[in-house]
Amino acid sequence: MFSEEIKALEQINLTDRDIKNMKTSKLAEKKMEWVYGIGDKKTEKLVALGKDKLEEQIANRLLKENNGIVNYCPKCEKIARTPKARQCRFCGHKWFDESE
Ligand SMILES: [Zn+2]
Repeated sequence: MFSEEIKALEQINLTDRDIKNMKTSKLAEKKMEWVYGIGDKKTEKLVALGKDKLEEQIANRLLKENNGIVNYCPKCEKIARTPKARQCRFCGHKWFDESE
């Protein structure tokens, strides 16, 4: 994941109390910027999506970028258990790649 994605997910999980506590010292404030991306425009944009939307967006991006690594069942198009699996755990379809 991108670092701003990780930060955004962490930031979403913070409570108001966490943030208040962190504002008590300069060091803690710096930590907030580094760890949670508070004040970082890219991260704030992701945080604004909300947790569900953000997670969905990250998942979709990772799947898209890893297309070819992710092993889909050719029949039902669900994701197989492992990248080398040749039998679908959902529909039971078996496939064997002759090139291997
Ligand atoms: Zn299947």
